[in-house]
Amino acid sequence: MRDYLIAGNWKMNKTPSEAKELVKEILPLVKDSTTKVAVAPSFVAIPAVAELVKGTNVILAAQNMADDEEGAFTGETSVLMLKDLGVEMVILGHSERRSIYKESNETINKKVKLALKHDLTVDLCIGETLEEREAGKAEAVCFEQLEKGLAGVSEAELANIVIAYEPVWAIGTGKTASPEDAEAVHKACRGKLAEMYSAAAADKIIIQYGGSVKPANVKELMAMENIDGGLIGGASLTADSFAALVNFNK
Ligand code: PEP
Repeated sequence: MRDYLIAGNWKMNKTPSEAKELVKEILPLVKDSTTKVAVAPSFVAIPAVAELVKGTNVILAAQNMADDEEGAFTGETSVLMLKDLGVEMVILGHSERRSIYKESNETINKKVKLALKHDLTVDLCIGETLEEREAGKAEAVCFEQLEKGLAGVSEAELANIVIAYEPVWAIGTGKTASPEDAEAVHKACRGKLAEMYSAAAADKIIIQYGGSVKPANVKELMAMENIDGGLIGGASLTADSFAALVNFNK
């Protein structure tokens, strides 16, 4: 039996003061959840949120990190800085990082290995664009992102990896993949991971779905055999909707 993980990606929203207010509202609403729960504030809001989530069931995540440990990289934030603040998980390879900031699979892989070296859980995002889906390449794109993103990652290290399947055309657009379409890709990706590692390792790994998940569609998505939670953008920005997602199975 795999756990469900519901993670909120706040993106470039919420000032540190607003982030504090949001997390204060979220904590009592999710404290008895049976799903795992994580929030990913902006870098500057992490210290404030870290103080509030310490000792609770909420996992503190970052939205990105640099691909080097330290040095002359103006404007970057390192894994050492995140660890020092109590961050436990990092989202890597989000489609906005891939498309807007031109992060390649190779850069993402470097970050994945660095995060694992420092015992961070990695939430590795994969997913196809609309053009790729229409060309029948959804699975091939995801497989390539898995192979390249996880290059050099051992089966033992896979225990610290979560995959988020996020079809790019469904992120922030209000368009959700149908539960059946999402399930087909999740199942195929689990099969790919079984090929890359082992059936046992593939069976254990959490594969989240992301892309316009909201309280109205969460149950039908989570009912699918290979969907183990969600990476949530828009609907994670208010306590009520995020808590409704975390508590979808209550
Ligand atoms: C995301 O950014 O990872 C995401 C899934 O966003 P949204 O839920 O807003 O589509």
